[in-house]
Amino acid sequence: MEVKLYNSLTRKIEEFKPIDKNLIKIYSCGPTVYNYSHIGNMRAFLFADLVQKVLKHIANYNIHWVMNITNIDDKTIRDSKPNSNAWKAEMGVQSGNAFEDLNKLTAYYEKAFIADMHKLGIEKSDLYAMPRATEYINEMQSLIKKIMDKGLAYISEGSIYFNVSEYCKTNTYGKLFKIDFDNFKPGMRIDSDQYEREQVNDFVLWKKYKPDEPFWDFEIDGQNYPGRPGWHIECSAMEYELLGLPFDIHTGGIDLKFPHHEDEIAQSKAGYGIEPTNYWCHNEFLEVEGEKMSKSLGNFFTLRDLEDKNIDILDVRYSMLSAHYRTKYNFTFNGINAAKKARARLQEYIYSIINNLDDKELEEIKNAKVLSTDIKTDKIQALANSIFEELTNDFHTPKALSYLFTFINNNKSASLSKEEQINLLYLISVLNRVFGVWTFEKKTEEVNEDIPANIIELANQRLAAKKDKNYAEADRLRNEITSLGYNILDTKEGFKINKI
Ligand code: AMP
Ligand code: ZN
Repeated sequence: MEVKLYNSLTRKIEEFKPIDKNLIKIYSCGPTVYNYSHIGNMRAFLFADLVQKVLKHIANYNIHWVMNITNIDDKTIRDSKPNSNAWKAEMGVQSGNAFEDLNKLTAYYEKAFIADMHKLGIEKSDLYAMPRATEYINEMQSLIKKIMDKGLAYISEGSIYFNVSEYCKTNTYGKLFKIDFDNFKPGMRIDSDQYEREQVNDFVLWKKYKPDEPFWDFEIDGQNYPGRPGWHIECSAMEYELLGLPFDIHTGGIDLKFPHHEDEIAQSKAGYGIEPTNYWCHNEFLEVEGEKMSKSLGNFFTLRDLEDKNIDILDVRYSMLSAHYRTKYNFTFNGINAAKKARARLQEYIYSIINNLDDKELEEIKNAKVLSTDIKTDKIQALANSIFEELTNDFHTPKALSYLFTFINNNKSASLSKEEQINLLYLISVLNRVFGVWTFEKKTEEVNEDIPANIIELANQRLAAKKDKNYAEADRLRNEITSLGYNILDTKEGFKINKI
């Protein structure tokens, strides 16, 4: 199946040509684990997940997907220092040892991130690797040395900087982003990981050690330069080590085009002689009620904040996927409500078919390893073709969903033949590998309509854990359900839930 995608490098929609058609390699800039990720960050990770899922489940490619964990940068260091607001009691007492405190803080928020990803339907098990920056310091140093050997970096006051003007003699800096060179003077340097948009500077590759901050030794020509890596070099070294260059697709939020991705391109070209990737894909920003999300405006949300408002995180997933990734996504509570209704509408349609199947038929459907290419019957195949074409046309989820909804609005399930019904279920189950928001369990009458969907989801997870004889997990889930204010009773059909 042909895939088209928008390449930020050429600013055009292009046909996707894999480097090796048997294995697609994707790198996504991952979270900086200094606090809980906000819903804007989660949009970027959900987009990366969409890319890999469409390529895997609709275009049927094998995938190696890497997402890094930024556990050393200006922010993780800042927030692991004594008296940090980001420090949680669960992390224990701050020891004052810079390494120990950095590790405790970042391990805590990495764990929280993986839990948040899971709630949003992004699974760690889909990742080929999730490298932590601190585990690749040698590789970063080796890349820095390569850049120095080419005469494209220099040492100044114990730090090492990329020499932009020297690089520009034979290369282009600013392929992704229209950059302002007017105010650039050779040798103008910047130490911080993130800096003013559009302003070019010699950026830092290795930062000199500061008292009370973690550092590594770095020996160059017999002299030691204790310090730590700059943020940009981290991704360049990790993608090279884990995927090799060039790899197929690099994802990230639109704000990362400059300086982060511009600097990644320059570092790889300078050090390895090759650019990192063939396709750069960037998601637009998430806003809240039409405004930039910020703590000072009080419109800043993490997934935890939304759960506290009794929002089902899968409704958030569905809502985010209802917008095209290259348009701004406006998060509103009305929007989440509308998404909840739309998602429930398709779920009811699924129930209307599966509640008429016997258990054996349903098990067969659930266990069938249907590929996107297996959908039969003219009517459903025509629908499938339209939907798959949209998903593989620059990941056009809103158009794909509109085809699906037009179909179910125009065709009551009872009006379809049994074969069409089964094929439609196969189609939805293939789509669900991408969307991940519907269930193929029969609707149990025992579930009270007032029970929030996240509680039902936990109860379903508990049922699955019991079936797997994972009783410790089942107990843990029961406790979680109780702690959220609900009782769960086992019944012959499954379970019954009551508010405590
Ligand atoms: P960070 O954890 O700060 O390194 O950011 C992780 C990802 O979130 C990056 O890909 C950013 O581009 C992305 N990002 C940050 N803010 C937003 C936002 N409001 N909407 C969409 N993506 C965002
Ligand atoms: Zn990165």
